[in-house]
Amino acid sequence: MRITKIDVHQVDLPLREGKYSWSGGKSIRVYDSTVVRMHTDQGLVGHGEVCPLGPAYLPAYAAGVRTGLKELGPHLIGQDPLQVGVINRVMDQHLKGHPYVKSALDMACWDILGLASGLPLVTLLGGVQGEAVKCYRAISQDTPERMVARIEEMRGEGHHHFQIKVGGDPALDIKRTRAVAESLKPGEVLVADANTSWLPYQAARVVRAIEDIDLYLEQPCLGYDECLSIRKRTTRPFILDEIIDSPAMLLRAHADRAMDVVNIKLSKVGGLTVARQMRDMCVAMGIAMTIEDSGGSDIVTAAIAALAHSTPEALRFSSSDVNGYNTKSIAENGPRHEGGWIKAPTGAGLGVKPLLDVLGKAVVSIE
Ligand code: MG
Repeated sequence: MRITKIDVHQVDLPLREGKYSWSGGKSIRVYDSTVVRMHTDQGLVGHGEVCPLGPAYLPAYAAGVRTGLKELGPHLIGQDPLQVGVINRVMDQHLKGHPYVKSALDMACWDILGLASGLPLVTLLGGVQGEAVKCYRAISQDTPERMVARIEEMRGEGHHHFQIKVGGDPALDIKRTRAVAESLKPGEVLVADANTSWLPYQAARVVRAIEDIDLYLEQPCLGYDECLSIRKRTTRPFILDEIIDSPAMLLRAHADRAMDVVNIKLSKVGGLTVARQMRDMCVAMGIAMTIEDSGGSDIVTAAIAALAHSTPEALRFSSSDVNGYNTKSIAENGPRHEGGWIKAPTGAGLGVKPLLDVLGKAVVSIE
């Protein structure tokens, strides 16, 4: 089988809550998502989606996805999409870094592999584990009162695992965390995610002040060494996210016992192929995971659900229905959370049927 053409589509996805806010005053109102349609000489069409969380969350931005696809796409024309390992090697040979650009192409190849074999992606990635996957809900940074109210609202939709956005003024973050913790019901899980934004002296102050609260602390500082120093100053279980962006970084952090949980985002590491490698490494090393991505709609949610649902339950800290954060559906059968739980699609490949009228005309066509 050969790749004959790659169409690139751009879709704006307005956020459900109007504005999603995290550390350092960063926020976005609309996801700028990119969908690729990968055509083959045998009539199969695979899909991939990638959506950075604005330009200031990870070293990735939406226009960069499209520019990168123009650079990389021509090298994939004529390649066999079923050979996902070979495809990944070709991509790394022709474009250094830029994992988010590769993610959508890699996803489309996995979709084609599933369509060609008649198997759902979750089967190709190891098979269904457990009934369903728990999704966390991110709670935008806001006043303590509004964050408590937002949790109440999300609890009403069935969620019971909350990730609050801190990483602001330390005194206010302490108040936010304490107010939210006091509002939780038995059995609910709390994560305080600073998204890299505390300086070590600020993080040190916060972790001391919230030491009595039953919570997980996520990515307090920007640098790895800074995070490691804070890890050593707290007894709270520790999550690393932004800084764990490759298998090598995962191994280094595990050797240092730098975290208990890692967040594997498909586009942060270069797509499903590398994310699956890292997932399997985590399984072997006993590190729990949140399997997710930085944003997007039904196509990327299908890929996330397939990887998460094929991960052993004991190591599945949480996952994310990223399509639940925005208001626009871009495909039929995109997995939706039910009472805070999501399941991998059962159809072949990604198991979704893109809505071509929503995707509109291709902004770039490579053939
Ligand atoms: Mg995070």
